[in-house]
Amino acid sequence: MKRLSLLGSTGSIGKQTLDVVRQHPDMFSVAALVVNTSIDTLEEQIEEFHPLLAGVVDEKAYRLLKDRYKGQTKLVGGKEALRQAAVLEEADMVVTAIVGAAGIEPTVHAIEAGKTIGLANKETLVAGGPLITRLCEEEHVDLLPIDSEHSAIFQCLEKQERSNVDSLLITASGGPLRTWPSEKIAKATVDDCLNHPTWSMGNKITIDSATLFNKGLEVMEAHWLFGFDYDHIKVVVHPQSIVHSMIQMKDGAVLAQLGMPDMREPIQYALTYPQRVELAMKKLDFLEALQLDFMPPRYDDFPALRLAFEVGRAGGFKPAIFNAANEIAVYAFLDRKIAFGDIYKTVCKVLEQAETEPEFTLDNLLAMDAWARDKARAVLG
Ligand code: NAD
Ligand code: MG
Repeated sequence: MKRLSLLGSTGSIGKQTLDVVRQHPDMFSVAALVVNTSIDTLEEQIEEFHPLLAGVVDEKAYRLLKDRYKGQTKLVGGKEALRQAAVLEEADMVVTAIVGAAGIEPTVHAIEAGKTIGLANKETLVAGGPLITRLCEEEHVDLLPIDSEHSAIFQCLEKQERSNVDSLLITASGGPLRTWPSEKIAKATVDDCLNHPTWSMGNKITIDSATLFNKGLEVMEAHWLFGFDYDHIKVVVHPQSIVHSMIQMKDGAVLAQLGMPDMREPIQYALTYPQRVELAMKKLDFLEALQLDFMPPRYDDFPALRLAFEVGRAGGFKPAIFNAANEIAVYAFLDRKIAFGDIYKTVCKVLEQAETEPEFTLDNLLAMDAWARDKARAVLG
């Protein structure tokens, strides 16, 4: 029985993780659930999965739940909830399904407590790559990818000699604006962007898919997960999202992992790795009409992707700044305070102001993240 601590249980990844757990009651149990504010859904999840601990990060929502909840599960409020769930003795694996750099501290706590990490929260690895990978090595902790592209690459790389692999080919759906004319893109509305053609996901990552910031974050995520330099990571647009990603070998052969665009498949593989078990979902069927297209990204029209390569190559705290500024700009866009084109411009302006590169410690990372958020807010006025 694998006991899970699930950070962000009411989100898109969180709910799909619980669906995988629901399908395999003999394999998994839930030790902890943590959410930000959604206490009604959390209460239903507590009722169904009986965790030892349930956390609500938002203090007001926590007090509301605390006042009405009469069951056995221990309730914890505030950021302390994330820490306690991350280090809980009765948990073997921590699934990081919260959004953004808020995942940095709990992920660090979980690694220091020796927990296997099921990594959905890519922002943490992008911002904290040097620190997170160093800690994982020191603590002999596995980071198992949940992001579909990274799960695909992880599966393709299994049993391959690293020296035989030339490059990683990350596929991208291209997002909802893939075919838009160049001059219209900067004026895309929130509704245009939330209408994703192939994946159903949380709002933040859906906007990131429209700007291609998501693909940029994934390029850096792949760099840290698999240790490939940026000259050997390539992005290929593939609108059907069936080929989840590929690797190209030294001799030119390409290995790919395919499946339906359904996150339960990579989630389950992270949870059962190295085993495979049955999963009830629609499977890919080659006897149905199936068309697979591939094309290069439109770097000039979606400049965030090119910027991500630059930032990744620059290293240090640049990826953390890139990520933090993007988070602020995305939420401003979702609040309809700025235009779509302003997201990229904000991130560029914050990066231009970055000067110091202190030692890569957790404290400096959190300080740099906070600095970039302040600068982004100032840029946005
Ligand atoms: P979501 O917005 O649907 O859900 C986020 C969850 O985290 C919710 O349960 C929310 O209560 C909780 N949360 C948010 N901020 C929090 C905070 N500060 N403290 C504690 N809890 C907090 O997001 P999502 O789409 O499920 O994405 C989660 C992560 O997984 C992101 O990093 C995203 O990039 C990554 N990811 C998502 C998908 C997908 O299909 N949704 C695919 C690949 C990777
Ligand atoms: Mg992805």
